[in-house]
Amino acid sequence: MTSASEGEGRALQRAALDHLWVYMREPAEMAEKGEPQVFAQGEGVWVTDTEGRRFMDPMSGLGLKNVGYGRAEIAEAAFEQMRQLSYMPSGTVAPPTVKLAEKLAAMTPGSLSRSYFVSGGSEAVETALKLARAYHKRQGEAGRYKIISRRGSYHGATAGVMPLGGAPRMRRADYEPFAPGFLYAPQPHLYRCEFGSTSQSECATRCAQAIEELIIFHGPETVAAVVAEPMATSVGIVVPGDEYWPMVREVCDRYGVLLIVDEVMCGFGRTGTMFGGDHWGVVPDIMTLAKGLTSGYVPMGAAVAKKEIADLFIGSEDVKFVHMISFGGHPVAAAAALENIAIVEREGLVGNAAAMGAYLLDGLKELEEKHSIVGEAAGKGLMCSLELVQDKGTKAYFSPEAEMGDRLTGHFKANGVLLRGGDTVRIMPPLSISRSEVDFLIRAIDHSLAAVERELGV
Ligand code: PLP
Repeated sequence: MTSASEGEGRALQRAALDHLWVYMREPAEMAEKGEPQVFAQGEGVWVTDTEGRRFMDPMSGLGLKNVGYGRAEIAEAAFEQMRQLSYMPSGTVAPPTVKLAEKLAAMTPGSLSRSYFVSGGSEAVETALKLARAYHKRQGEAGRYKIISRRGSYHGATAGVMPLGGAPRMRRADYEPFAPGFLYAPQPHLYRCEFGSTSQSECATRCAQAIEELIIFHGPETVAAVVAEPMATSVGIVVPGDEYWPMVREVCDRYGVLLIVDEVMCGFGRTGTMFGGDHWGVVPDIMTLAKGLTSGYVPMGAAVAKKEIADLFIGSEDVKFVHMISFGGHPVAAAAALENIAIVEREGLVGNAAAMGAYLLDGLKELEEKHSIVGEAAGKGLMCSLELVQDKGTKAYFSPEAEMGDRLTGHFKANGVLLRGGDTVRIMPPLSISRSEVDFLIRAIDHSLAAVERELGV
């Protein structure tokens, strides 16, 4: 049963083509394919469109549906809060927002203890950058404004964070010029290591050293922060060697540079630990959160700062943090977040992500062996990827003429899963996924890869 009829679905599709900017899609291409597909319902890892067709969503929306679709408890928590108090008078707080800040202080590592709530991941990273720069000013180091990020990373779409990271398919030239002061380090991705490393350890070490070299070259007195995701997702999932994070933390400490760990995608169990950095015991100076904070039931993000940083913004009007986002700390979002985190904890979803993630990766590694177009299967927990190549030896991607992305996306859909084809296929299902659902997913990917290989004659 769907909440929108088939006819209504078609009308919505036409209206979307005329009036809606569907993210990262182009209307003419969608029209040609009879898209955008309109979805009406979701339950667990499954979603149903307005024509009653059911698919698995192994992308969790945009890597955010950690507790899965259809959680009545979250809907009820949000509804109840909306009935009681749907916003708060200016300069005051509402109970769930305070409780959420307290909960995050308890969950996050080290002295991370003060949350600034915002509406999503881009705003969370914007907030972290502002905090980092203002922190150095309050420390008497006004020259520290440069930010180091890694090529191949993604930290958001708004003007202040778009210059961070970058991947080839994320064309940015149209939106330049950006503000000055962005520096780029290599990604600790052994499969495509910029240094041609032959081991995880060598790749991790050289990439961490490269951050130190950048800081030295530009002058530590000019560098404010390093921002990085525990595992990057813009290229194939990058699981760094074990040396990487301890070295990056140490380099930042040595040169007085703040470490912003962007947990927007990895946070709340995605990688099989509560936060992605927990795999290496990394304690950030500022942690950014969104996506899994509410499992996408309502928009919300946060920048959580260490006490030593937050305390520099306390004491007088002059040092107060000048930053205001109308929907930051929204009590309805906070109520939803609290219930979402309670589900993650109550149902042991972090452990399930670790167990099902290992099982999924085993299946993907088998596909790497079996299929000539799979260059690398990678991941940790339920954050996995397949890198697709024309030639396993040279690791060259398919040319655009092969229309690899479109072909594969079509076969995935025909096999019942909503995954996007391309040079990299990202696979990050809800953390509640079962073993039999992982089996279904692997089978669907296997059949889709085989179909594309037949079509391309490889
Ligand atoms: N940071 C990371 C690591 C992300 O993966 C994303 C989004 O995918 C963002 C930031 C931006 O978040 P949002 O899309 O909520 O603005």
